[in-house]
Formats: sequence, structure tokens, C-alpha cells
Amino acid sequence: MLLITCPHCGERAQAEFTYERPVQTVIALDAPVEVAVETLYNRANPRGWSWELWRHTHGCGAWLKLHRHTATHEVAAVALLEAGA
Ligand SMILES: [Zn+2]
Repeated sequence: MLLITCPHCGERAQAEFTYERPVQTVIALDAPVEVAVETLYNRANPRGWSWELWRHTHGCGAWLKLHRHTATHEVAAVALLEAGA
């Protein structure tokens, strides 16, 4: 089980959090269907360290930046997402 340390609430189970898709995956309303399908279903899934956006949905509601290894699920850093970051 992946454990995430929320800066407000402490260590919690992954089930309390929601992974949020990166902003660059937003699809324009007038995008061709091929572009929408490619964006929704064929995302890159690189192996290694990645900065990810998570939300403590079933806790304090904070938005978090996690530095997580996509293969081992090790979490190296957690930080609050600040406005404009
Ligand atoms: Zn929290």
C-alpha cells in the first residue's frame, strides 16, 4: 500500500488521495476526435522519478506535489501546491 505524508494530516493511505492529471492533458473543446482519443488513452507512462499532482480528497483537501518513483512507488518528497506554482 502506498502511504503519502500529507503536510497537514501526516501519513495516510493512498485511498484518501486522488491522482490528478497534469494540466497539459486538457483537451480543447474543438479538438479532433483523434486528438482527444490519443490524449485520453495513450498517455506516456515513463519509468522513473516523476513529479505528480495529488489531492488529499478524503482528508484536508490540500493539493500536493509528490516526487514519486513510478516503478517502486517510493515517495521522495511531498510539498503543498502553492498558488502560481
Ligand atoms: Zn491532508
